[in-house]
Amino acid sequence: MSRYWSSLVEQLDPYVPGEQPRVQNLIKLNTNEHPYGPSARVIAAIAAANNDSLRLYPDPTSLELRQVIASRFKLTAEHVFVGNGSDEVLAHVFHALLKHDAPVVFPDISYSFYPVYCGLYQMQFRTVPLDENLCLDVEDYIPDTGDKASAHAQTGGIIFPNPNAPTGRGLELAQIEKVVAANPDVVVVIDEAYVDFGAESAASLIAQYPNLLVVHTLSKSRSLAGLRVGYALGHPDLVQGLDRVKNSFNSYPLDRLAQAGAIAAIQDEDHFERSRQAVIRTREQLTLDLGLLGFEVLPSQANFIFARHPTLAGEQLASMLRAKNILVRHFKTLRIADYVRITIGTDEQCGQLLEACKEILL
Ligand SMILES: *Cc1c(COP(=O)(O)O)cnc(C)c1O
Repeated sequence: MSRYWSSLVEQLDPYVPGEQPRVQNLIKLNTNEHPYGPSARVIAAIAAANNDSLRLYPDPTSLELRQVIASRFKLTAEHVFVGNGSDEVLAHVFHALLKHDAPVVFPDISYSFYPVYCGLYQMQFRTVPLDENLCLDVEDYIPDTGDKASAHAQTGGIIFPNPNAPTGRGLELAQIEKVVAANPDVVVVIDEAYVDFGAESAASLIAQYPNLLVVHTLSKSRSLAGLRVGYALGHPDLVQGLDRVKNSFNSYPLDRLAQAGAIAAIQDEDHFERSRQAVIRTREQLTLDLGLLGFEVLPSQANFIFARHPTLAGEQLASMLRAKNILVRHFKTLRIADYVRITIGTDEQCGQLLEACKEILL
């Protein structure tokens, strides 16, 4: 606390990211980074951009990157908004598209940054509980048809991740479409940070629904958490709203190296395909192996699994693994305090995790 702080700063309850340790030799399975490196074409593109041109500002519109992203989704650059990581994109989304008189709605168990943005932008929110299996029931997001006007008056917008975090559970495209179609008067944001590990993207619905916004990141499936690039796909009117906020905040969110690296990443479809398939294979094996040790593992469509053991509290397991130099993520949140979230590492790292679990459970 400082008397120089604004009253808003005093009230904030900031997001706390997973530990980024400075010591070596830890097996880091706590922040959903990709275990394999980015495409060699990304490294080469960044090296090629690392020159005297850094004295110049980057393209404030990231046009070439937006075109490359657009063509991958059969959209135009006017449908694409880019930002300094999808966390920044999401911040602008809350500010530009979800801040209305009525509260924004999201699941009780979901990305813990959402309520933080609401605090920053002084927005009301309402959480909808996941069901007892930690599944999202889309019926909870469909306004009562009998009482449509009042139901809509109560919702300023909807956002949830698909697959959800930290559960890893995904929804089918038809389920997503139901929510988007039933809420034409508000923006529905699907945060697809993990979609490439086994769920189906809603990007294919954008041409049909002007109220749909899909958010992606290069941090997870493109192995580029360190580059800080994320993007949103949606109707040009939504993108223009985001641009107005962005240009009232930072005109140059993506530097020259990030734009060059991101373009190369999106263009290397082979590397993307191989590395995501490797993560999916490891995930399926780890799910089986942990099941054999008595863990209950939620079916995951992401690059992490959410698991609990009947004889060991989540916090206890996380700290016992920490003592064996393995980092996993534990959330103190009431309904999920039993669980740990384990990022899918290399086969070797997952093997070491299994050995550690065996020793702990002995
Ligand atoms: C990781 C993550 C993000 C943010 O990713 P960036 O690194 O900021 O691009 C957004 N949403 C969810 C659900 C995430 O897990």
